[in-house]
Amino acid sequence: MLVIKDLHKSYDTGKSKLHVLKGINLEIGEGEFVSIMGSSGSGKSTLLNIIGILDEKDSGTYELDGIPIEHLSEVKAAEYRSRFLGFIFQSFNLIGYKTALENVALPLYYQNVSRRERNEKALEYLEKVGLKDWANHLPNELSGGQKQRVAIARALVTNPKIILADEPTGALDSKTTYDIMKILQEINREGKTIIVVTHEPDVAAETKRNVVLKDGIIESDQVIEQRVLA
Ligand code: ADP
Ligand code: MG
Repeated sequence: MLVIKDLHKSYDTGKSKLHVLKGINLEIGEGEFVSIMGSSGSGKSTLLNIIGILDEKDSGTYELDGIPIEHLSEVKAAEYRSRFLGFIFQSFNLIGYKTALENVALPLYYQNVSRRERNEKALEYLEKVGLKDWANHLPNELSGGQKQRVAIARALVTNPKIILADEPTGALDSKTTYDIMKILQEINREGKTIIVVTHEPDVAAETKRNVVLKDGIIESDQVIEQRVLA
């Protein structure tokens, strides 16, 4: 599904070059639930953004579903993102003047899905995350956990191959974190591949495989005994 070989990434910070990823090798198969950990600044978001085709690597190879991700036009990159990937962010990134339903339906608009089907699908996924009754509410009328559930519905609505989540519970309290991780476990049980960046060991323990970044490389990569949330 996803094969990364000897991937490097630096940032030009004016005076000096910051070599963030120094030869990452990573293979993730269909249906996996992977957490990526590492201290602040270790390059977790950089790696996730490259996987998400939001940022470009400097060297190495990256194949997504057999397709080399290399020198893509912005149009191609957007097409692959839309076809393969769903994103969840710490800050939810919902559109404030759109309702929950409209936020969830938006990715389908970019896929030229008819209005009727967009609304049907969006409602179906809002129901999946337990927010059917909140469809017509604006983000500022929702709690943090509810906002993140809307974002999960939005990430799922196009039925992407992989869900990428960057600190999805970073802005949430522990009870809400539990609820969000429970939903992600359910989605994974249904077969969805999930990659979650986190600095919370509890969150990592609820995935099935833990990758740790340190000093620009993968320090450890282990299948773990998943703590299943009931
Ligand atoms: P993490 O998500 O693990 O906290 P990041 O991938 O966000 O780490 O960042 C890794 C390092 O790269 C940090 O030192 C950060 O300051 C730096 N960095 C990230 N993005 C940029 C950028 N666009 N320009 C310059 N430096 C960056
Ligand atoms: Mg980060």
